[in-house]
Amino acid sequence: MTLLDGKKLSEQIQEELRLKVLERKNAGKKIPHLAAVLVGTNGASETYVASKVKHCEKIGFKSTLIRFEEKVSEIDLLTEVNRLNHDTDVDGILVQLPLPKQIDVEKVTEAISPVKDVDGFSPVNIGKMVKGLPAHIAATPYGIMLMLERYKIETSGKHCVVIGRSDIVGKPISILMAQNSIPGNCTVTLCHSRTKNLEEISRSADILIAALGKPEFVKADMVKEGAVVIDVGITRVPDETKKSGFRIAGDVAFDKVAPKSSYITPVPGGVGLMTIAALMLNTMNACEIREK
Ligand code: NAD
Repeated sequence: MTLLDGKKLSEQIQEELRLKVLERKNAGKKIPHLAAVLVGTNGASETYVASKVKHCEKIGFKSTLIRFEEKVSEIDLLTEVNRLNHDTDVDGILVQLPLPKQIDVEKVTEAISPVKDVDGFSPVNIGKMVKGLPAHIAATPYGIMLMLERYKIETSGKHCVVIGRSDIVGKPISILMAQNSIPGNCTVTLCHSRTKNLEEISRSADILIAALGKPEFVKADMVKEGAVVIDVGITRVPDETKKSGFRIAGDVAFDKVAPKSSYITPVPGGVGLMTIAALMLNTMNACEIREK
């Protein structure tokens, strides 16, 4: 079994980006600038945004954090997105999800200029991705593809089973894995909460991607010997032994599944960190596209 080390790989990609930023600086070119919008004080969202800002600093990107109170109106949030769209110094915009009930997430996502939509959630970027055209790919699926590519995992002709059909992970990763690309060229089965015989389908996977948000849902008897297992799940589970009062759990029962797998991602230290690396790559890409 080989551990798919998201920490190491993410650091490697970020180091490549750091050198690229230095080169740009020396050539008098623009420094990529990511603007993050955070609404409210949700603990997990605070952690994610803080981590994204910290990684920007590490690479040498410029970053701006814009905070709104939980009760912000939809119009005020849309006005800010519009301002960022027109701010010539800003290359990438991300609005941290989830958003409070009074805000229509779709309206906000659609309001972000596709060129600056480094989260890859806008219908334009999703449509382009489906057609195989250049696009900002949603950071988590992009991070998974990078991991498969850098570890040179053979995917062509394999059966890939994805559990979970969210717009940000399940749907896009199932499309990417089926594309005529490397990695890609898989025969893909997309499973969800209404899937029958899920365990049987899961057992037939050469590559299993779990993105459903149910801690340790994937047990050893749901995994074929030698399968590649990608665990996207991140759930905070109460744990009194931790100072924070919780631990982070993935969707895969790692201890039992790992010995059966050929490759597996840990949680934490797997897909989560690759998501950050992918976001940074999208931001660099956005900067380069805008330059052209
Ligand atoms: P979601 O929470 O929006 O949806 C869950 C999906 O799982 C749904 O499509 C549902 O049909 C499916 N599902 C639920 N129960 C199921 C069951 N019993 N059997 C089969 N399918 C079932 O999904 P999401 O936003 O993609 O999040 C999934 C998990 O991934 C969460 O733990 C989330 O925190 C995590 N996540 C991690 C990253 C990362 O960077 N690692 C990024 C995004 C999401």
